[in-house]
Amino acid sequence: MALKAGLPLYDLEFVQFYPLVLAEPRLSTFILLLPGSSEAKLVNEQGEDLLEKSGIRGDVHQAILSQRDRLSVFLHEASQAGDVFFDLTHVPEQEWERFPLNFLKRSRFPFRERPFLVSPAVHFFMGGIEVDSGGRTALPGLFAAGEVVWGSTAQTATAEMP
Ligand SMILES: Cc1cc2nc3c(=O)[nH]c(=O)nc-3n(C[C@H](O)[C@H](O)[C@H](O)COP(=O)(O)OP(=O)(O)OC[C@H]3O[C@@H](n4cnc5c(N)ncnc54)[C@H](O)[C@@H]3O)c2cc1C
Repeated sequence: MALKAGLPLYDLEFVQFYPLVLAEPRLSTFILLLPGSSEAKLVNEQGEDLLEKSGIRGDVHQAILSQRDRLSVFLHEASQAGDVFFDLTHVPEQEWERFPLNFLKRSRFPFRERPFLVSPAVHFFMGGIEVDSGGRTALPGLFAAGEVVWGSTAQTATAEMP
C-alpha cells in the first residue's frame, strides 16, 4: 500500500528467520524456545541427527543462538527431502519441570511421547516505511507503526514531516 502511495521502502531484503516453529497440522504455529539439553534432537524421516549432518556444533539451543540463519537454511533444505522432526522423547524428567518445556508439558499434544513436525519460519521483516518520531510518513496524513516501519534517519528522527 505504501509503495502504491509512492512512498520509498527500505531494506526489504532483510528478513529474520527462526529455525524452529511448530509445524504440526491442525495446531497453531508458535516459536519453539528450547531447553539447553543435548537430548533434544532434530531428526529426519530416517531418524538421522540433522544437527550432526549440518556440521553446526553444540546442541540445538546453542545452534539457534549462534547459527540461527545457517540452521534455518539447512532445515529448509532438509525439509525438501522429507519431513523434519523435533524429538524431545529422551529429554530428562527434570528438564520438563523448567521453562520452556513446562509450557509444552501442559499441552494435550504428545510432545514427550513422539517426535513432532517443525519448520523454519519467517519471523520478522526488518525493512519497511520511513517515519518520523511521531510515526508520520512522508505522505501527509499517513502514519505507520509496528513491523511495517523501517525506522527513521537522523533527519527524520527529529524533523517534523511536511
Ligand atoms: C512466529 C512468530 C513469533 C514471534 N515471536 C515474537 C516474540 O516472541 N516477541 C516479539 O516481540 N515479537 C515476536 N514476533 C514478532 C511480532 O509478532 C510482530 O513483529 C508483531 O506482531 C507485528 O505487529 P504489527 O501490528 O506491526 O503487525 P501484524 O501483527 O502483522 O498486524 C498487521 C495486521 O494488518 C492486517 N493487514 C495486512 N494487510 C492489510 C490490508 N491490506 N488491509 C487491512 N488489513 C491488513 C493483517 O491481517 C494483520 O492483522 C514473532 C513473529 C512471528 C511470525
